[in-house]
Amino acid sequence: MSTFDLHLHTTCSDGTLTPVEVVAAAEERGVMVIAITDHDTVAGIAPAQAAAASVQVIAGVEINTEVKRENVHILGYGFDPDNQQLLAGLAQLREDRRNRARLMLKRLKDIGYPLDDAAVLANEGAIGRPHLARALVAAGHMPNEGEVFARLLGSRCPAYVPRPPYTPESAIALIHAAGGITSLAHPGKLGDPVRIIRQLCAAGLDGLEVYHSDHSPQLTARMLVRAREFGLVVTGGSDSHGPGGSLPRNIGSLLIPDEVCVEFLANLRYKQ
Ligand code: AMP
Ligand code: ZN
Ligand code: FE
Ligand code: FE
Repeated sequence: MSTFDLHLHTTCSDGTLTPVEVVAAAEERGVMVIAITDHDTVAGIAPAQAAAASVQVIAGVEINTEVKRENVHILGYGFDPDNQQLLAGLAQLREDRRNRARLMLKRLKDIGYPLDDAAVLANEGAIGRPHLARALVAAGHMPNEGEVFARLLGSRCPAYVPRPPYTPESAIALIHAAGGITSLAHPGKLGDPVRIIRQLCAAGLDGLEVYHSDHSPQLTARMLVRAREFGLVVTGGSDSHGPGGSLPRNIGSLLIPDEVCVEFLANLRYKQ
C-alpha cells in the first residue's frame, strides 16, 4: 500500500468507478494524495475534489500520443483545469475517439459482432476500446474483456482502428500551456524507452512514471536510474481502472516511497 496514487481512471473515461467512488475508495484505504488521470478529459477532477475530505486530489490527465506507430502516453499534472486551450485540445481528442469508436463498431458489425451503436456512443466522456469490450461481453459475443482485446480490439486484431496521430510534443505543449507538468507514462511498455525519453526531454518533458503496476522491480530500478540521468521528476501510480474488466489494479496498491510524492508535490507549478 502507498499513501499516494498518481494514475487513476474514472467513468469520465474508461474506468468503472465514478470520481466520487474513486475518492471514497482512496479514503477508505488511507491514501492521502491521488491524481485523477482520465484519458483526454478533465471532467472527473472537480467532482472528485468536491467529494474529497481526507485525500488531496491533484488535477491530472493522460493523453495518448504516437511516435512511429508506437503508443506513447503523456500524463499531465497540476494544471489549471479551466484553461481554455487545454479544454479545446482535449475536446478535439474526444471527438477523434468518438469517430474512431464509430469505425470500430462498423468493423465489428462487418465481421459478425453487431452492437447497439447508439448505446455505446451515448457515453459523453472519452470513449475507448474498454467501452466496446464491455458491450461485447454484455451482448454475449465474448466471454470476457481479455478475450476481446486478444481477438478483436488489440492493435493487431481485425476490428482495431488506430487513432489519428497526435504527437507527444503537442500533448506536452498543451499541458504546459495550462500551467502543468508532464510525465511519460509506463515507459516500460515502450520498445526503446531511452530513445523516447531523449526525444521528449528535448520537448520539455518534466517527469517519468517510474512506478507503475506493469513495471517489474528490475524495470522500476532501471527507470529510476534514467529519471536521475535525465533530471526528471519521479511519478507513479496504479493505473487502476476500477473493479471488473481485465486490468484489476487496486487504488493505492502499488508500493511507492513517500519521498516520491513529497518531491512531486514540490514540483507542481500551478498552485491549486
Ligand atoms: P484506447 O484508449 O481506446 O486505445 O484503449 C486503451 C485502453 O484499453 C487502455 O487504457 C486500457 O484501459 C485498455 N486496454 C488496452 N489494452 C488492453 C488489453 N490487452 N487488455 C485489457 N485492456 C486493455
Ligand atoms: Zn484506460
Ligand atoms: Fe496509459
Ligand atoms: Fe492510464
